[in-house]
Amino acid sequence: MELTDSITSMGGVGKKRGELYEKLGIRTVGDLLGHFPKEYTDLTETVNIADAPINEQAVILCEVKTKIPAARIRQGLILYKVIVTDSTDDLTVVIYNNRYAFENFTVGGQYRLYGRITGGFTRKEMNSPMVIKADDRHLIRPKYSLTEGLTAQMLITNIERILDETAEKTEDFLPDSIRTRFELCTEEYAYGNIHFPESMHAADISKRRLGFDELLTMQCAMFLSKISSRESAGCVMEQKDLSRFEESLPFELTGAQKKAINGITADMCGKYPMNRLVQGDVGSGKTAVAAAACYFAYLNGYQSAMMAPTELLARQHQATLQGFLEPLGIEVGCLTGSMTLKQKNALKERLAEGSCMVVTGTHALISESTKFLKLGLVITDEQHRFGVNQRKLFAGKGEHPHKLVMSATPIPRTLALIMYGDLDISVINELPKGRQPVETYAVTGKLRSRALGFVKKELDAGRQGYIVCPMIEESEGGEVQAATSYAEKISQGELRGYRVGLLHGKMLPAEKDNVMADFKAGKIDLLVSTTVIEVGVDVPNATIIMIESSDRFGLSQLHQLRGRVGRGKYRSYCILLTDNATEETKARLRIMSSTSDGFVIAEEDLKLRGAGDFFGSRQSGLPPLKIADLYHDRELLSDTQAAMKTLIEESADLSAFPKLRERAERLLSQNGDEGMN
Ligand code: ADP
Ligand code: MG
Repeated sequence: MELTDSITSMGGVGKKRGELYEKLGIRTVGDLLGHFPKEYTDLTETVNIADAPINEQAVILCEVKTKIPAARIRQGLILYKVIVTDSTDDLTVVIYNNRYAFENFTVGGQYRLYGRITGGFTRKEMNSPMVIKADDRHLIRPKYSLTEGLTAQMLITNIERILDETAEKTEDFLPDSIRTRFELCTEEYAYGNIHFPESMHAADISKRRLGFDELLTMQCAMFLSKISSRESAGCVMEQKDLSRFEESLPFELTGAQKKAINGITADMCGKYPMNRLVQGDVGSGKTAVAAAACYFAYLNGYQSAMMAPTELLARQHQATLQGFLEPLGIEVGCLTGSMTLKQKNALKERLAEGSCMVVTGTHALISESTKFLKLGLVITDEQHRFGVNQRKLFAGKGEHPHKLVMSATPIPRTLALIMYGDLDISVINELPKGRQPVETYAVTGKLRSRALGFVKKELDAGRQGYIVCPMIEESEGGEVQAATSYAEKISQGELRGYRVGLLHGKMLPAEKDNVMADFKAGKIDLLVSTTVIEVGVDVPNATIIMIESSDRFGLSQLHQLRGRVGRGKYRSYCILLTDNATEETKARLRIMSSTSDGFVIAEEDLKLRGAGDFFGSRQSGLPPLKIADLYHDRELLSDTQAAMKTLIEESADLSAFPKLRERAERLLSQNGDEGMN
């Protein structure tokens, strides 16, 4: 039996069970072996029936005295009883409607039962317990995620067989030196004990080993994807003087921006294509950095293209870049799906002949018919919204162009290393001078009208504001509905006389653009919106944002939303409304009012919500981790980082570790379009 064999090729698994396994994503023998238990039921510690406390879970070691035949209590309800004893007392096992479970008991047979003890002092009962034979060697029972028709026992039987037949056949993929240095058990031990642990300690040891494997494989995959881009020569550029760019800016670049620009231009002069992430908090000025990179490419005779996930952002980037580059005589185009065919063709022609040197756009940029004369730099904004294939297509528009990725999502350092292990990272951890932190208040719904009064005061002073509407999980339709009726209600009620606009994800791109343009131009005082405004919207005159049901958002998301204000010279405010004032909510919202540092907030968010949600909410593009947790296993993560370092020192392309490479390559290919970052 090989781990790559189809699951149906193994004895005891037919077509039907194969289909059930398929539902769980299990196709091969190896997939089943990698279907780890969620938790365990520990049947090692038993109590005497006489001592077993009522209404608590207990494990009883007993012998069957008598079986009482089925009794039909009423229509559709059949009751079976089995009297067991352990010499201290008798216990009645009650089974409903499960003849099979009843028949499995033999009189005189020894069993371990696990369940809740009920009844009184005279007659104790246990309803539908978990039952194993007394001599069963697996006293710690795995609990698997299952699907209808597939029982835990079926999995146990199949997995036992796989373990028996593959044991000692496969050599550990980890070098011994790494295994001993990080005190890890063998792979064989780990697989055996993750499913059928000898003790809870054995389960922990196994979990650690398998978590290590998972994190190491992931990092290794990142590393391979990083070095593979080094195989090709890039568009080698020359150092150029950027002082004209700096002088034409209406502000002084921050130190962090300069540092990022230097990193970028150095990369672009290198032999290999740049592969760099610029990570910076909202408002840290990433677009100015991107503009510098475009200008640098331009001076070297290369075109640049910036791709954004939405039409709105693509247009905004065009406007921003235009603002920076027009004074230098560079015109910035924008290519989006909603343009007329004629407009698109005209721009495409200019890109193909090289008369348009800088362009922004949506994925229209990667459509088949878009061609560039000499594309030297591709920039993606909010990259995790793009899959690997899209990014590949984008880069394919040039001859190994330099790649720049911009992310406004602060991520704790250790995690950035794993999420973006294939990229070099520049962090812009400094906000432009003179920015005041956004004053943030968390209030309950009782203060809503006072909060609105505050909003009005800002609007009266000539400023603009946002109200973000409750997120409704069920459907996007619900969310739109909520925002629409909210806007109606408020414009006829508290905010009567003000110009209230509405923005949501279901509007046509052109409608959204119109609303945003009106808002930017000051024709709308207050914008009621869903979270579509979360990413990158820039209106410096907006000074107040009120977020309804703020407890439903993650902290990082609230931080993103808050970043829509405080972008200009005016003092700005964020009001977090909640009708759910639990202690936990209060604690979370307090973090928002106490800091404006996105990295600190990200760290807290991660701590409060766990890695699953933290990454889930931002579609990290990381393969799902089955066993390791990026937050709780931080120590293991740093162990694997150290291990990676050692392995690379020993073998720069990891070719000395073919098994590890193979695992990593498999991960890369499985991940497909979902993509690692
Ligand atoms: P990000 O994309 O990082 O959220 P932007 O690039 O959109 O930030 O910049 C936010 C605002 O700050 C823009 O209006 C931009 O013109 C301005 N800005 C950028 N860099 C500076 C700076 N060094 N000093 C002052 N303002 C800046
Ligand atoms: Mg931006």
